[in-house]
Amino acid sequence: MLSIKGLAKSFGDLEVIKDIDLEIEKGKVVTIMGPSGSGKTTLLRCLNALEEPTKGQYRFDDGLSIDFNKKVSKSDWLTLRRKAGMVFQTYNLFPHKTALQNVTEGPIVVQKRNKQEVEELAKRLLKKVGLEDKMDLFPHQLSGGQQQRVGIARALAIEPQLLLFDEPTSALDPELVGDVLSVIKDLALEGWTIAIVTHEVQFAKQVSDHVIFMDGGYIVEQGPPTDVLESPKEKRTQQFLHRVL
Ligand code: ADP
Repeated sequence: MLSIKGLAKSFGDLEVIKDIDLEIEKGKVVTIMGPSGSGKTTLLRCLNALEEPTKGQYRFDDGLSIDFNKKVSKSDWLTLRRKAGMVFQTYNLFPHKTALQNVTEGPIVVQKRNKQEVEELAKRLLKKVGLEDKMDLFPHQLSGGQQQRVGIARALAIEPQLLLFDEPTSALDPELVGDVLSVIKDLALEGWTIAIVTHEVQFAKQVSDHVIFMDGGYIVEQGPPTDVLESPKEKRTQQFLHRVL
């Protein structure tokens, strides 16, 4: 679905992701692992056009091609932004909007879609993530796991081609992690294309088609989960897995 070549992002003089080559295949799950500060979030934010890469190229299978070595046109930028839906570590819900309004906001306000249709869609999505009886509650009336499921419904509502998850369970109490992971597992089984940053190794083994391990801004190892997670070649991957398991 997306071919990434030579992607880099600097903040001032600090290059935090470097020379990233990655293929994201349609309907597959790519898991991104690595120590804190290795550039995982920045990579996701570049995929969602929340950050502008400093170098590199994206080539999508629908023909959109973006070269960040040149100035990116506004229309390419907007197209890129619409391709991915992001689920954040700390949910990022609007505190003064209900679960339903959080899900409808993007499609109605940003995408200018029909209000009634979007509300129907949002209700279906909230039901899908197990929140049909919580639609009119505000974030502070929901548990962390429920808020994160609203976050997932919100990402689905913009009907993206690619779903991005940035450590979606790391802020949750341990007993709430399973519900959120099971929603993500279902999405993977439905055939969504997913890129997920997670430290949940068992989950990654179950759902991933491809795992990348990052350190110091580089991808130091990538491949199928059986290789990277069960018999990693690189010392840094081995040490990291040893620490998180
Ligand atoms: P990870 O998700 O692997 O923990 P990040 O992508 O969040 O890593 O961060 C990678 C590096 O980029 C870190 O050194 C971080 O301090 C730096 N960084 C991230 N965002 C910014 C920013 N907006 N401005 C300056 N430095 C940043």
